Amino acid sequence: MYDYCLVVNAGSSSLKFCVYQQTTGGPWSLESRGQIEGIGTAPVLSARDASGQSLVKRSLEGTVRDGRGALDALAEWLRSMYAGGRILGAGHRVVHGGARFASPVVVTPEIVEELRKLIPLAPLHQPHNIAPIEAVRERMPDVPQVACFDTSFHRGQPAVAELIPLPASIRAGGVQRYGFHGLSYEYIASILPEAAPEIAHGRVIVAHLGSGASLCALRDGKSIESTLGFTALDGLCMGTRAGSVDPGVILHLFQGLGMSPQEVETVLYKKSGLLGISGISNDMRDLIGNPDPNAQLAVDYFIYQTAKMIGALASVLGGADAIVFTAGIGENSPDIRRRICQSSAWLGIDLDEAATQAKGSRISKPQSKVSVWVLPTNEELMIARHTGRLLGLI
Ligand code: ADP
Repeated sequence: MYDYCLVVNAGSSSLKFCVYQQTTGGPWSLESRGQIEGIGTAPVLSARDASGQSLVKRSLEGTVRDGRGALDALAEWLRSMYAGGRILGAGHRVVHGGARFASPVVVTPEIVEELRKLIPLAPLHQPHNIAPIEAVRERMPDVPQVACFDTSFHRGQPAVAELIPLPASIRAGGVQRYGFHGLSYEYIASILPEAAPEIAHGRVIVAHLGSGASLCALRDGKSIESTLGFTALDGLCMGTRAGSVDPGVILHLFQGLGMSPQEVETVLYKKSGLLGISGISNDMRDLIGNPDPNAQLAVDYFIYQTAKMIGALASVLGGADAIVFTAGIGENSPDIRRRICQSSAWLGIDLDEAATQAKGSRISKPQSKVSVWVLPTNEELMIARHTGRLLGLI
């Protein structure tokens, strides 16, 4: 009989999951990775094994209507796939841990109540993160659960980095900079001692460039600044989010254009960024090499904004020893990496053109003052590790 750890990352329209198997005396080993996408529209379950072979791809239309239904479908697939196996623990990605949760926690009813209180800080994500925790508690009450937060890794930043300079009465309600993508940054920091020992204790700027994008400044493996703030709307240009905009523009949307809060939210989260600039797509692959001038402008702005913020983080760090690229765009687009490095060349970056296609390695020349790396992130493994550690499984 095999023992497993289930990792769940639930969003508004998708439920991503990983199954890890416990190996005797060793770390978790990945068994399968999958998702149910299109919840609410045209749901499809797909999963692959550790080598990338497809295990399942089937439409769930007519059977899955919401997040709960998706969890039922996942539970049924897991039962058929891993019959006779035991789930030793479930680890969940939870976007917001507020100021309190500076590390992952074993879930109790009291903790769930605390997580609910944070819903106003992340209304689009937190309810979807809590739902599978409750579903597992109801249906598999013997399975212990761990909540891992996207914000935890950034706790401990200097007070000035967390501050939003509004009146104290407003700040008292939890208005501060939290930072996100923390599980990704924590994973990168955790592998640096082995993957890049020469920079592990130095000043490192990690660029998590996916459909959500941010930068994190690491000193000695700890986060001291990041570009996402109170919400996941700040900082870099993203697939459908603008990144930093003058707050006066938001006032203009309300007061000048008469938009409703719901409309403004949709513009900020769903219609801006690469999609808003290009009018074509939120996917970088559709824009790179696209001759449409608006597609080019979107790519140019993405690079401009990222390089500008790299400069800001280098300043906070008092210089930089390395830049690490990760996530969908960071790991897979040599073009974007090259252009960001060209714009940041003043820091002392000397790229090794022959190595820029590479993944999982150093792409700067040995004499480059600032070394540049491409390191694939693995937020799910970070969650599995936390779950195993907190439950005493590994
Ligand atoms: P998330 O986990 O935030 O959904 P990912 O880290 O998986 O995002 O990144 C997804 C994004 O990565 C896609 O939207 C796409 O823009 C980008 N991407 C993936 N592969 C490539 C590639 N080869 N070239 C450029 N961009 C890519």
